[in-house]
Amino acid sequence: ETYSTQILKDEAATIHTAEVLATQLKPGQVIYLHGDLGAGKTTLVRGILHALGHVGKVKSPTYTIVEPYALSLGVCYHFDLYRFQDPEEWEAAGFRDYFNPDSLCLVEWPARAESVLPRPDIEIQFEILPHGRVLQIISQHALALEGLCQ
Ligand code: ADP
Ligand code: MG
Repeated sequence: ETYSTQILKDEAATIHTAEVLATQLKPGQVIYLHGDLGAGKTTLVRGILHALGHVGKVKSPTYTIVEPYALSLGVCYHFDLYRFQDPEEWEAAGFRDYFNPDSLCLVEWPARAESVLPRPDIEIQFEILPHGRVLQIISQHALALEGLCQ
């Protein structure tokens, strides 16, 4: 079991956390990212994808809902469900199949698709402070996050 709380004072701290977290990620996992608009969810995903070897841009899939990345560990799907409304669209778009033992799924705004999403392996929650962010990482797995400053 993991329960970690950190203060991230700037974007560089968010990227550092992404790099530590990336060492713990495996195909088959589902990661939920909670937090308001501008909290840092996509920044964290960008840091994770770069740490896992992706070279190039990571754009927010706000309109496309999902963006795939071919990584050496397997495929990673980055979901942004901010605009997702209709659970029937989930089946029609084939999103269920994106969650499989060979894929890593990073999901922004998971509450928008609560009824259809698989349960998470790791939940990450951002809170916005005037200068910086509070980040919580919660998981039923024991994650090795020693590299994180508290
Ligand atoms: P979200 O995906 O949650 O809507 P984004 O990652 O797109 O948020 O945007 C977050 C914004 O906050 C970016 O401008 C980024 O530079 C900034 N940011 C990221 N981490 C921090 C931090 N720890 N402290 C302050 N600003 C941050
Ligand atoms: Mg985002």
